[in-house]
Amino acid sequence: MKRRDLIKGLTLLPLAGGAIAETAQAAISPAPAAKRDLYKELGVRTFINTRGTITFMTGSLMHDEVVDTIKNSSKSFCMIDELQDKVGAKIAELTHAEAATVTSGAFSALMLGMAGVLTGLDAKKAAMLPHLEGTGMKTEVIMQKGHDIGYNQALTNCGVKIIQVDGVEELERTISDKTALLHFLNANANNGKIGHEEWLRIAKKHNIPTMIDMAADVPPVENLWKFNDLGYDLVCCSGGKAIRGPQSSGILMGKKDLIAAARLSASPRSNTIGRGHKVNKEEILGLYVALERFINTADSEWKLWEDQIATIDNTVKVLKGVTTRKFVPPFANHVPTLEVKWDPAVVKISTQQMTENLRNGNPSIEINPGRNSMSIATFVMIPGEEKIVARRLKEEFTKAAV
Ligand SMILES: *Cc1c(COP(=O)(O)O)cnc(C)c1O
Repeated sequence: MKRRDLIKGLTLLPLAGGAIAETAQAAISPAPAAKRDLYKELGVRTFINTRGTITFMTGSLMHDEVVDTIKNSSKSFCMIDELQDKVGAKIAELTHAEAATVTSGAFSALMLGMAGVLTGLDAKKAAMLPHLEGTGMKTEVIMQKGHDIGYNQALTNCGVKIIQVDGVEELERTISDKTALLHFLNANANNGKIGHEEWLRIAKKHNIPTMIDMAADVPPVENLWKFNDLGYDLVCCSGGKAIRGPQSSGILMGKKDLIAAARLSASPRSNTIGRGHKVNKEEILGLYVALERFINTADSEWKLWEDQIATIDNTVKVLKGVTTRKFVPPFANHVPTLEVKWDPAVVKISTQQMTENLRNGNPSIEINPGRNSMSIATFVMIPGEEKIVARRLKEEFTKAAV
């Protein structure tokens, strides 16, 4: 009912004080939250996501048990540090770490981990960040050239300078008494001359802490503990990518004293650089349940994704001018993926037109476009949506066939 109609309706009611107040109240209140479709109400487009966990597309969808956890835990107060202690201990157990804490995304894990490395267990130092000069704190982070990506803003937020090195010799030459941390980017492990273990060995030789960013690198599920087992001091992971926890959650895991130090720069402590990286009780518990589920269902989910990919593959590969290739990207979105390619001489449609047609169709579908091709992952899709994607692709390819 439109507001205008509501007001018109009210004027017809008898003028008896209490009754009017009550009816007016009922008329102004919107439908119960559960019945409202706010995307529709606000005109926000929703879509089937065949691309994967992309932050600007809201990352991933939480499973029902995560949403139930959020709802149920929202009905009580608790002490946030006590909750972080207890959930952190459980996450540490699941990931073979000494300790862990829930952060506001992997970015926040990187920043808080860096802060902890710089300050140690000194709260006064935490209050000084990002100002390092004259504090006695170290000022430099070393990483390999191919590992310096935009997310390292999380490190420089703490006031440190990043020094890039190329190879062991340059690394050894660059390490000094200013070096706070040796940082490694798992996704670019093949984009640097020094591997995971050699990086660690050199750091240990010089007694310098190590951190690894593996934000998007589960699956495989083993990566949750692999780097803790190897001996990295701090490991940073996203909670809102394939783990499908709250999109704004992350995990910082590692050595006990460093996790405790990182928490000195985190909310709820107010005079810290991390105060704006707040995580609420619902997110902390939601992530915990999502993580448990992710670990327990890793094998069955993989099988589901393969079946979904096969459904799309079987529908499109028989079409004239269309070829497919199944593959698993080595890092980040390491899941069954289908490349669908078309011969522009046989299927007359540009990649851009294909992208727009799928976006503007019903339901809307977002794809990852290539050159007369697209790659499709199903791991953040709702089971059943693969059939819709297969049908829509078939429609578009058939329409464009010459
Ligand atoms: C996604 C990502 C981040 C940031 O993770 P959030 O959980 O979104 O904060 C950091 N590093 C890498 C390599 C990533 O892929």
